[in-house]
Amino acid sequence: MLLKNIPLVALFLLVSMQSALTQGYPEKWCGTTEKSAWLDWYFENRNALHAQRGADTSWLYVPMTIHFVGNDAGTGYFPTDQAMRAVCEMNEKYAPAHIRYYLFPGEPFAYHNKTSWYDHDWNGGSEMINANRLPDRINNFVVGNPAGNCGYSWQDAVVMGRGCSGAGNSTWSHEFGHHLSLPHPFFGWEDFTWDYSKPAPEKVNGRLVEKMDGSNCHNAGDRFCDTRPDYLNYRWTCNSNFESTLLLHDPNDSTFRSDATLFMGYSLDECASRFSDEQIDAMRTNLYTEHSNYLQITDPLDGLSNAQSLQLLSPIDTQVVQYNNINMVFNAPGNGSIYVLEIGLLESFVPTIYTQTVYAPDQAQISIHVDKNMPNNRRLYWRIKAYNEWDVCLASPLAVGVFKTQNLSGTSWLDRNLQFELMPNPVAEGTNAQLLVSAANKLDGKILVIDLAGKICMQMNVDISASEQTIDIPTAQLSPGAYILQLQSDKGILTKRLVVTQ
Ligand SMILES: [Zn+2]
Repeated sequence: MLLKNIPLVALFLLVSMQSALTQGYPEKWCGTTEKSAWLDWYFENRNALHAQRGADTSWLYVPMTIHFVGNDAGTGYFPTDQAMRAVCEMNEKYAPAHIRYYLFPGEPFAYHNKTSWYDHDWNGGSEMINANRLPDRINNFVVGNPAGNCGYSWQDAVVMGRGCSGAGNSTWSHEFGHHLSLPHPFFGWEDFTWDYSKPAPEKVNGRLVEKMDGSNCHNAGDRFCDTRPDYLNYRWTCNSNFESTLLLHDPNDSTFRSDATLFMGYSLDECASRFSDEQIDAMRTNLYTEHSNYLQITDPLDGLSNAQSLQLLSPIDTQVVQYNNINMVFNAPGNGSIYVLEIGLLESFVPTIYTQTVYAPDQAQISIHVDKNMPNNRRLYWRIKAYNEWDVCLASPLAVGVFKTQNLSGTSWLDRNLQFELMPNPVAEGTNAQLLVSAANKLDGKILVIDLAGKICMQMNVDISASEQTIDIPTAQLSPGAYILQLQSDKGILTKRLVVTQ
């Protein structure tokens, strides 16, 4: 049942965890440059295809498996709930085309741990796709770095960079458009350097350059006549008319601005909002022909029934639980199958300190076991985001459960009520180490640093309050070597090993 487990251990790791989620922006937006052979066939046969199919507005349902790719250590996965949000948003963008994506029943997700796939060059990407592509669906890989791009469509798979997959992105819709045969409106101009203040040449990279008068729209650029000429092969912002701020010159020196509303162009996410009618016709025809194996259902699948009925059962009402061994139990909504558990330090869940995804179709009551160290002696919050293969949009509001952590199996009062971490450890001589203490109660105590011969090298009195605090441990008086750090109080003694390096 367990599909994924992202251990984000103690609160002391929060800072590094947050920075790991921030990705640099890639040097290129889209890595798709190949021409679709199918599209050549389509343009040759478009009229016959239209005559055969007539006016067709039926909904086309397209299954996909999301491949979450992590590094060798099994970390770096794009979060499940963000992937669901990305598909949900993509469905809004494809609704005018009457195309809807859903997750392949029984195989919504796959997980792969390989650093050379997570952060790949073109060879690594090809290897990743060919080793893992599943039949009869769109295989959508989400990685850390797709060969320096935001994403690409290649070898009958789609690959997304997690850094370009945030809320409001149009990258997913753009790459899925490529997958269904669409070229860039500026097709031919990819990687071409040009001084746009001059009239464009007649040909670029062997392709005719599209003119404003429409005289060559069937043969130039993307060959769709309802997408205007576009030569801009870099990310560009739009003006208030959703056009390029830059004025372009066609080969006849007619001036125009690129259309920023098209998902298949390179305008910024907030400028793009549509596919053209001819683009939609090509994508739908592609689904009826080249990718007809995707069209497996003609009616919607069952969605979640009564998502609000998801009920948290345990732990709730500030119940005290063992900090590293917690069973999260809830009643599932009808037809639920995909659940994302989140644990937060605050009711806002900012930050979320732990997430776990579970795939559990057809179960009325679900139990998720958390055996990682949660912050001890803390009030914590948990919630469940529920989905199924069809219902990829999050239903809200979400119920929130409150619980308290303790070390119930600790032998002394201190073990049960206090957690402490020493970092950095080893520590360089002369640098302060820090003792991070999380306590359930106020406490007077003493910190001792003892060398391996039993000699007390340093001691200090401490007042510990009933919360989290950081206590500096100076090492200036300590020569390099190993020490025992003791926290002594009338409630007992806790120890940590401390190593001082040169
Ligand atoms: Zn592209």
